Amino acid sequence: ALSLAERARLISPSATIAMAQKARDLKAQGRTIFDFTLGESDFDTPENVGRAAWRAIERGKTRYTPAAGIPELRDAVARLYRDRGLETTAKQVVISNGAKHALHNAFMALVNPGDEVIVPAPFWVSYADLIRLAGGVPIILNTSESDDFKLKPDAFRAAVTPRTRLLLLNSPCNPTGMVYSVEEQTALADAILETEVGVVSDEIYEQLIFDGTEPVCFATLRPGLADRVVTISGVSKSYAMTGWRIGWAVAPPAIAGFMADLQSQETSNPCSISQHAALEAITGPQDSVREMREEFARRRLYALERVAQLPDVTCRPPSGAFYLFLNVSAHYGRTLGERLVTNSTEFCMAALETAGVALVMGQAFGADHYVRLSYATDLETLSQGFDALADFLKK
Ligand code: PLP
Repeated sequence: ALSLAERARLISPSATIAMAQKARDLKAQGRTIFDFTLGESDFDTPENVGRAAWRAIERGKTRYTPAAGIPELRDAVARLYRDRGLETTAKQVVISNGAKHALHNAFMALVNPGDEVIVPAPFWVSYADLIRLAGGVPIILNTSESDDFKLKPDAFRAAVTPRTRLLLLNSPCNPTGMVYSVEEQTALADAILETEVGVVSDEIYEQLIFDGTEPVCFATLRPGLADRVVTISGVSKSYAMTGWRIGWAVAPPAIAGFMADLQSQETSNPCSISQHAALEAITGPQDSVREMREEFARRRLYALERVAQLPDVTCRPPSGAFYLFLNVSAHYGRTLGERLVTNSTEFCMAALETAGVALVMGQAFGADHYVRLSYATDLETLSQGFDALADFLKK
């Protein structure tokens, strides 16, 4: 019989997807489910973007493209970053099948077997598996709620060993929604420049910031820093384009060159039609981004108000992305619904079974005292879901 390669042990299916599946199963049985597990915008892709895709088909843009992406899109991405103060060219931009693929390429380009990659927790679920797949060792560095889950420069310094190759940064953060200030990022940049460590900066939620500040590209914060940083982003979150699968990396030239070569062997190129759609997304009118951001901001306020009324649940107000990271640990040791709840997985199972509220366990993000609530869903669902949750926790 065929047996799996050892590599198979490095990969576990995403816990967020497992919770969403359980929610779907209950829905199929006729239960009303308030689904707060989703890591994607509930808005439709903006119309101008969809039309650009139709036009691309009509113009026959349906063949292989250069491995690193169509020149117009690489150019447009490079311009976007130059406008944010990064000295870069189209040659340094690699378009991939989503930001996740760009992350995979980056780790494959930078990590040798046994190299350590520092990953601050709470972290997005895929980092550790992607690092392991590249032969690296994820070093999980816990942050504390009282620091807004932000990595402090001294904690970084203390974690660096001779094997440390990279630091993973993610601001705005999934799952906490926290956004590092320019001062905080600059202090981290200085600590990094004292070492030989490189950075992969995942900035996929950069346009979903609610305190009125502009996106900051980490690589621009100090002279020389850009030589050490691979910046990751894409259109999935900002333009409600998760299914189109377009993300990118901006990297030093030799790294970008390898990422393009790797991609040429693995996938040839990202979808030609999606690339034309992404080009319209970032170069066309930006009204829809603003409208979506304003709507997320409204929901965020509403959700925070409702959380404040939940018994024994606390939450640091996030300033970005579309998640609340709820501290539910005061309920551990209690019986909720039919279940004795002692961790985030049991909490989520009890909330789903008893109240029909689907959340993601913090354990999947390396923080078991918490559950993640996505407010990328309409206000009506949010309102009813919070009613159900309040009921569930009062009993
Ligand atoms: N990075 C973070 C922090 C994310 O939350 C996600 C999606 O959930 C991604 C990357 C992946 O984005 P994409 O859909 O473009 O691959």
